[in-house]
Amino acid sequence: MALRSKREGAVGSGSFIGRKYRIAQRIQTALALIYPPRCMGCGELTESDFGLCGACWRDTPFIGGTVCESCGVPVIGSADRFRTECDDCLKTPPPWNAGRAALMYDGKARSLVLALKHGDRTELARPAARWMAQAGRELLRPRMVIAPVPLHWSRLLKRRYNQSALLARNLGRETGLDCVPDLLVRKRRTPALDGKTARERDEALAGAIDIHPRRALHLKGRDVLLVDDVMTSGATLAACTRACQAAGANHIFVLALARVAKDA
Ligand SMILES: [Zn+2]
Ligand SMILES: [Zn+2]
Repeated sequence: MALRSKREGAVGSGSFIGRKYRIAQRIQTALALIYPPRCMGCGELTESDFGLCGACWRDTPFIGGTVCESCGVPVIGSADRFRTECDDCLKTPPPWNAGRAALMYDGKARSLVLALKHGDRTELARPAARWMAQAGRELLRPRMVIAPVPLHWSRLLKRRYNQSALLARNLGRETGLDCVPDLLVRKRRTPALDGKTARERDEALAGAIDIHPRRALHLKGRDVLLVDDVMTSGATLAACTRACQAAGANHIFVLALARVAKDA
């Protein structure tokens, strides 16, 4: 703290740090002239970096209002003193404690998620994590560990990065909580789960996700925030939750960038 105020005090004076700061500012101004801030959604010029233009903002379905405590989907009505849950979560309660998502997987949100996942638009992770921190603010706990849903190494090799790990890292930065990108590992490749029944999904995921043997110590008695780009059935997040519980974690929460609507 003392160091910071000293540095701030030095800015603007004739000191070396002040000079360096002015140079950095000039470089930033020059960069803004060459690369003016553009909308993350459509590339139109915007006022600030990592933002959306008005039109894209309107087309991006941010989740607000009353949501299901377990999966974050919007529900009709207002929250009362009981735990608010959607029909699906009432029928089949997920194994985690609570969950949220920033966006509905629809419209502009869908193209943003796909651009982050397959389009090498890794810079999207930063604003996305900011939206997630906002949507998941009620889930955050002191000393919580943030961990992404893992990719199998063969898929990681092909795609070069795990979009959920990018989100988790940025979320760690945004919240100041520990992010352990390799807390969970996918031991074998799993098929796409779309269109499968709940039972088929469980079978496909059985034994596929585990805790990294060297990371188990991070978990004992700690709360975990599992991060994924898209939550569909929640089967993968459930498998991650069970792996964390088996390793002695305390409460498990899940946070997704986007939530697929039930009827989609
Ligand atoms: Zn735009
Ligand atoms: Zn729900």
